[in-house]
Amino acid sequence: MAIKPSDDIFEQSLLRLDHAAEFANIESESLERLRHPKSILQVSTPIRMDDGSLRVFEGYRVRHDDTRGPTKGGIRFHPDVHLGEVKALAFWMTCKCAVAGIPFGGGKGGIIVNPKELSRMELERLSRAFIERIADFIGPETDVPAPDVYTNAMIMGWMMDEYSKIKRCRTPAVITGKPIAIGGSLGRDDATGRGAYYCIKELERIKAWRPQDIRVAVQGFGNAGQHVASLLHADGYRIVAISDSRGGIVREEGLDIPRAIELKQKRESLSEVYASRSVCDCPKCGCVECHCQQSDPGSGKVITNEELLELDVDILIPAALENQITADNAERVIAPVIVEVANGPTTTDADVILNDKQTLVVPDILANAGGVTVSYFEWTQNRAGYYWTVDEVHERLHQIMTREFNTIYDLMTTNQIDMRTSAYAHALNRIGNAIEAQGTER
Ligand code: GLU
Repeated sequence: MAIKPSDDIFEQSLLRLDHAAEFANIESESLERLRHPKSILQVSTPIRMDDGSLRVFEGYRVRHDDTRGPTKGGIRFHPDVHLGEVKALAFWMTCKCAVAGIPFGGGKGGIIVNPKELSRMELERLSRAFIERIADFIGPETDVPAPDVYTNAMIMGWMMDEYSKIKRCRTPAVITGKPIAIGGSLGRDDATGRGAYYCIKELERIKAWRPQDIRVAVQGFGNAGQHVASLLHADGYRIVAISDSRGGIVREEGLDIPRAIELKQKRESLSEVYASRSVCDCPKCGCVECHCQQSDPGSGKVITNEELLELDVDILIPAALENQITADNAERVIAPVIVEVANGPTTTDADVILNDKQTLVVPDILANAGGVTVSYFEWTQNRAGYYWTVDEVHERLHQIMTREFNTIYDLMTTNQIDMRTSAYAHALNRIGNAIEAQGTER
């Protein structure tokens, strides 16, 4: 079936549903339910800014489907948030939780804000105010938020505290991705990157890769991008390019990832640091502080985010935002393997082009499922009041990621379909089973 392009990101995401349903056991009525989010909440949150002025921020919380369990999904703070995006992200969470086989449905939230322009106090007021607006909508058994783009453990901690105050009852299981000190899980911070890393380790086994021969480019150097880069780097993979929102750097011999993370933690922009230093006397050192590589023609240089996607690498890891690989650039994306750590980095029309080229795309709903899987571990630990060691978390995450990766890979091979279609078909089998077991009149 040809997939038609569509402007609306939610409508686009539903096209994948139709396509995958051809390979799944799901009744058409069950499928129809998934075309409509269960409920949508739009809120406005007036905030007193530090200078005394008042600003009103718009936000959303979408619950897509809760047949398999409470809706689950992050809250994003970003200036480009819009309802269509939040609906698509919530739909992807439904599919992702089904892929991972964890007992959750899908939800998502977002506030239209550039958090980099807010002071810490303003950010805290906004986080608490948003929870006040959605408090009747969320809860450990109904809808469980978590971090997403530009939100983190500190923000989750404020949100959990605000919810607990409103309900007059300490409720750690209402939100995941919290600081360890107040009920967060060990291993949640690097879970998204680690889940993607486990997928790559399975590919390494199947394809008999030698890590030192494999060149990797990572677009986006936030939480997930940093962790997947650092785990692969530690295993000997050559991370030849990384980027943040302002641009990237490329070096054929490989980059010093721990050093790049250190710089990023000091809130420095990778490409600016790289471009501004004068030539040092350590040729080919691979650090990202100097641009000694510039004297070595053809090796290191500053690149744009668009250029990074088109590099001649073995694995491309989009780990930033959605709609990065589109019909406009898919033809020029030459990496034979793409591992989608971001949600929705590839549009449906780009999929058609990549499939024609036989690019192996490990889809977002599998590749980045490690985050929500460890969120599930956090939620169970909170409810049991019993906490696991980091080794237990890693072990169980590894088990789930490897099991689901191989099921989806085998389904792909058997049906001779692309891996995204097989991941959706796998998700639809589980969701369809649940809807049909529950009774469709609900
Ligand atoms: N925001 C992450 C995602 O998109 C994590 C969601 C969660 O842990 O609930 O998968």
